[in-house]
Amino acid sequence: MIPVFQPAARPIKAVVNLGALAHNLARARQLAAPAKVYAVVKANAYGHGLSRMFPALAGADGLALLELEAAIYLRALGWRKPILLLEGFFDGRELEAFAEHGFATVVHHEAQIEALAATQIRRSLDVFVKINTGMNRLGFAEDRVANAVSRLRGLACVRTLTLMTHMASADLPDGLHEPMARLRRVAGQFDLPVSIANSAGVFRYGEVGGDIVRPGIMLYGASPFGMPDGLPARLGLLPVMSLQSRIIATQQLESGDRVGYGGAYRAEQGGRIGVVACGYADGYPRHAPGGTPVVVNGRRTRIVGRVSMDMITVDLSGLPDVSEGAAVELWGESIPVDEVAAAAGTIGYELLCGVTQRVPFEVAGLNP
Ligand SMILES: *Cc1c(COP(=O)(O)O)cnc(C)c1O
Repeated sequence: MIPVFQPAARPIKAVVNLGALAHNLARARQLAAPAKVYAVVKANAYGHGLSRMFPALAGADGLALLELEAAIYLRALGWRKPILLLEGFFDGRELEAFAEHGFATVVHHEAQIEALAATQIRRSLDVFVKINTGMNRLGFAEDRVANAVSRLRGLACVRTLTLMTHMASADLPDGLHEPMARLRRVAGQFDLPVSIANSAGVFRYGEVGGDIVRPGIMLYGASPFGMPDGLPARLGLLPVMSLQSRIIATQQLESGDRVGYGGAYRAEQGGRIGVVACGYADGYPRHAPGGTPVVVNGRRTRIVGRVSMDMITVDLSGLPDVSEGAAVELWGESIPVDEVAAAAGTIGYELLCGVTQRVPFEVAGLNP
């Protein structure tokens, strides 16, 4: 990829590490051996940039996403291995593109079987039949699967069948019991490969199993469990994205001074704060409360006051040596994105996907 010239103006940037992604992918493969690994790259590779991360995905057996345009783009980039469209096609007219590019499709609904029965495509497709094991979003109910499978088996445009499910609570201690029981009842009726595990399922592969796993968030070094549990680090996963900026101003506060919109923070004892070039218009969560961790010059401190559109304010009371230009990490290697997310009442997924257009990206670790 030829780097586009970016005048170094506002200091914020998202640095993404290709080596870390390749490493996490290899780790997923180890955890889920001997399953095939389809790396989930939906939502522009969870906000990291699909073409940017592409070189680090070479070790995957397949890629999975749900945006047709992005899938076609992956073929243009030269990806020859399987590409699975996780929600299948939304309209039968898309099937020409599926056939042309050799995409595998999820089939989760009767209407999709009708469309396959009616299509004129010449090339047959690999089909993943989705089973509803209790999530109640997409998939055939347990007692409808046999009918779907037998109808699909009768269609000339279906080349192979795989059973698939997505579990609602693979992150809960007893969240696997019921869906796995349902899945086993269904899968036991056929001699077909199955695909079960997302990241949470990969972490529990011993209980879940399956022939193809579909890790997403773990590849980006964050936790599927929606809490700052330190699990990614314990499993040897590396954060891929680091959101960085700089201190652009400092303020000395007298006791009782307030900071930011609404005077949300009051410095009872006075102190010193730094202003960071990063706000919610960059994708930093506006709901992050005072106390949310941030790293300045390699040392941990906390944000104070309200997150505004273009700036946040951080406590520099214990950091007398910090001045304008000091390096800031909002999340990344020093602060797991999960920790910032939890403070803001959300999950790492949302923060990673939510870095906005105006933040320039920089690629590190080019030789994974
Ligand atoms: C997003 C998605 C995944 C990956 O989930 P993670 O929690 O990010 O690992 C797997 N399977 C399906 C069907 C998905 O939509």
